[in-house]
Amino acid sequence: MSNKTTRRQFLTRAMIAGGVVTTAGIPIRLLAQEQVAEDDPLAVSMGYKHDATAVDTAKFPKRAGEAGANQFCHNCALFQGDADAEWAPCAIFANKLVANNGWCNAWVAKA
Ligand code: SF4
Repeated sequence: MSNKTTRRQFLTRAMIAGGVVTTAGIPIRLLAQEQVAEDDPLAVSMGYKHDATAVDTAKFPKRAGEAGANQFCHNCALFQGDADAEWAPCAIFANKLVANNGWCNAWVAKA
């Protein structure tokens, strides 16, 4: 076995040392997920807001009233993170990140 370091090994070690890739060799950039933009056409059509209190309840009456005021991404069945996670993926938005205190019209209570 050769003691020579290949170019690939060198680059991988350098990137790990620099925090660019995980030890499994997966680039961090590929693991980082994008946040849903409030002006994304799907987000607009679903009434998504990072801050649920900013939802237009005239357009989205599901979030109106006492029951609606208790609806947030963090207590939605589609929030794919711990209830205290600041951001977590949501299947409605192709697993882009939604805010803990966000909301959209697809909200459904966690079982
Ligand atoms: Fe938030 Fe649930 Fe809407 Fe996803 S489906 S954006 S978790 S309220």
